[in-house]
Amino acid sequence: MTISCVLFDLDNTLVGIPNTWNYFDTLIQDVLKMDYSLSIPSIAERNSLWRSGKEYVSILKRWGVIDPNDFWIKFDQRDGIKRKKLIKDGQLILYDDVIPTLKKLNNMGIKTGIVSNTPDFIVDYELDHLNLSSFFDEVLGLGDDQSICKPEPDGINLILDQLKCKPSNAVFIGDSPVDLIAAKRANVIPIFIDRKKKESRKLPLNSETYIKFTDLNQIFDFMEKN
Ligand SMILES: [Mg+2]
Repeated sequence: MTISCVLFDLDNTLVGIPNTWNYFDTLIQDVLKMDYSLSIPSIAERNSLWRSGKEYVSILKRWGVIDPNDFWIKFDQRDGIKRKKLIKDGQLILYDDVIPTLKKLNNMGIKTGIVSNTPDFIVDYELDHLNLSSFFDEVLGLGDDQSICKPEPDGINLILDQLKCKPSNAVFIGDSPVDLIAAKRANVIPIFIDRKKKESRKLPLNSETYIKFTDLNQIFDFMEKN
């Protein structure tokens, strides 16, 4: 096996959002409250939305949202405004290991890509403002079709196609359970990046089924051995 393609998640893998859970949970609540005047579901209910993949339709309908796609339009609008403010205020964190790792991968001729559940326009905005765009061969944010978001494998499959790379020659590096599940489903090697060196979240996969890095530079060791 030779690794010829390294794919990444974006948020909290390359770029850190402070208090991420709170950031996105507040967005859900704002949309329900301010855009739809609906009552706020329990924390467990709200959390279920992030891992739902195609199930989001039934979850949102249960909450009283009649048009689930409209919910994501409203959500993305609010996310866009909030994210631009974070960038403007210098609160988005570009992790130290990102640029050196990307430069080295580029120099080695390894193909690189991003598959993010964040909307395209926010992904592009983040990459531009952090001067990251030029490091990637392909970037895929979420367009209009919410049903292909991770943990569905569609985004990863699409990028592999565009890069003309076989799944067996690719890895996907991400910070969350949906990343690992999507990678598994796409038959690429799932790598969990855990810079805090502790698994604070309950991961859905047996730790034997994914590789764990605490620094992105570990990819080079991994590539040498595989
Ligand atoms: Mg992430």
